[in-house]
Amino acid sequence: MGYAVKSLPTQMGREAISPFGERRYNSWNDHIKARYGGRVQKVSIAAGFTCPNRDGLIGTGGCTFCNNAGFTPGYLDHRQSITEQIDAGLHFLSRRYPRTQQYIAFFQSYSNTYGELERLRDCYEQALSHPQIGGLAIGTRPDCLSEEILDYLEVLAQEHLIELEIGVESCNDAALARVNRGHDFAVSVAAIRRAAKHGLEVTAHLILGLPEESHQSMLEGASQLSALPIRALKLHQLQLIRGTELAHEWQCNPDAVPLLGEQAYISLLADFVERLSPAILLQRLGVEIPPSLKLAPHWNLRLYEIAPRLSAELARRGSWQGCRYRSATPSPV
Ligand code: SF4
Repeated sequence: MGYAVKSLPTQMGREAISPFGERRYNSWNDHIKARYGGRVQKVSIAAGFTCPNRDGLIGTGGCTFCNNAGFTPGYLDHRQSITEQIDAGLHFLSRRYPRTQQYIAFFQSYSNTYGELERLRDCYEQALSHPQIGGLAIGTRPDCLSEEILDYLEVLAQEHLIELEIGVESCNDAALARVNRGHDFAVSVAAIRRAAKHGLEVTAHLILGLPEESHQSMLEGASQLSALPIRALKLHQLQLIRGTELAHEWQCNPDAVPLLGEQAYISLLADFVERLSPAILLQRLGVEIPPSLKLAPHWNLRLYEIAPRLSAELARRGSWQGCRYRSATPSPV
């Protein structure tokens, strides 16, 4: 995993020295800049996949928080070919981030390993054949990773940057059941371990604040994830997207779907990060849904402000990522 520290002594009360400098957490952006000599930007692609929690294999309603439009950039047109989508994305991103050194194609919408291997191979290799694409990020569910697919990705990863993003969403089975996720945490644990055995770099995706979670259960999640071979973590707060089942539940009874305020989220994030292994890179700390799609909560805090607010909160506490991490947490499977 590249980062040798297994646990760090808590130095609160004495002069505290963060091993991560002023950020106080292990930043994916800093790591990528050091590894690739500059900014690496993801170009989103909608390859036309669906997901087994929608097409009937596991369920039909999908996860109750899910509306993929909420996470789809405006430049993305799913009717275009993969090459055309990449060209459109590069046109948009190169003006917005002119100092980008490298691009990777992000198969983001729905479950991007849910299909026949031939189809997956065709999609991934189309993206990799683009002259400006240096690798792939592939988002999927933990129950859509057959050995055949992992074998193929292992070979691909020998020549390209391949980041496998697995939707864990919660480490709490009651929360997963409550949002109709269609799998439990043990499925995520097994998938992460299998992917890592194939030499793949795994990013776990987690939502903080799902119904049925408690502050304590989310902090236990930090310890449970730390026990797994995860390279990076994407975290974000629960936001309710119009038209989703969870939004409907909240509209009928707000008490049934408690939402975090912005200060409570920053405080939870700091508690979580303090308990997280210092080896895990933090790739994302929040999300911002387009205002036309978002129902609640309404924060004044913008997405770009979350990282500095987290660093400021950790500095105020004299703490940093991993300062409360204990490496011997047993894994549930
Ligand atoms: S969040 Fe992912 S797994 Fe759940 S319904 Fe949406 S696409 Fe399917």
